[in-house]
Amino acid sequence: MSEFKQLKEITFEGNKKLGESGLVLLTWGNVSAFDAEKGVFAIKPSGVDYDTMTADDMVVLDLEGKVVEGTLRPSSDTKTHLELYKAYPQLGSVIHTHSKWATVWCQQMMDLPCMGTTHADFFYGTVPCTRAITQAELDEDYEMNTGKIIIETITERGIDPLEVPAILTGGHAPFVWGQTVDKALENSIVLERVAEMAWMNHLLNAQVPPLPQHILNKHYTRKHGKNAYYGQGNH
Ligand SMILES: [Zn+2]
Repeated sequence: MSEFKQLKEITFEGNKKLGESGLVLLTWGNVSAFDAEKGVFAIKPSGVDYDTMTADDMVVLDLEGKVVEGTLRPSSDTKTHLELYKAYPQLGSVIHTHSKWATVWCQQMMDLPCMGTTHADFFYGTVPCTRAITQAELDEDYEMNTGKIIIETITERGIDPLEVPAILTGGHAPFVWGQTVDKALENSIVLERVAEMAWMNHLLNAQVPPLPQHILNKHYTRKHGKNAYYGQGNH
């Protein structure tokens, strides 16, 4: 039996749920899951339909990008996921989609500011948008450098990636993460909703006031961290 059976199964389930979530058209999305102890991650194979995919189709790679199990070619975005796990081993899962509203913000090269408590419950402040990739970076290695630019942005902004578990890549689309696949999926769904609401807010008023900091703090900290009290104690 494969020593990566469980990792492949949770990755497969995540990809199936992503296919059912309404966030992706065709095969434009991928979920990976990371096992920090073994130093490997599993990811969706490239271009395979969510309906016909099986757990055995998942591709397992090490942190050098070498395939350690699987026969199919991994997702074309694999190197971006790889850079994120190398930089942030605390991430258990990374998801990439072209979900419509979040992608609109990427195409405007705009940060997604926190305008309300729906956002504050999941993202502790602005979800940043990265700069566009340069021609040289693209020629060198598009997917690897996309990952490096995400890390550059998180570092420059002084963000804890678990406190703001998403990023908008300029001109492209969001990458979202979490400590588990389910958490990363939930964050992807919420990002899409808050991006849509933020767009509507902009229509009403181009100078949308940010959510006051004390309300942002309250909503984020009642769900996250040592003093969290939302839910049934399993968060
Ligand atoms: Zn993409």
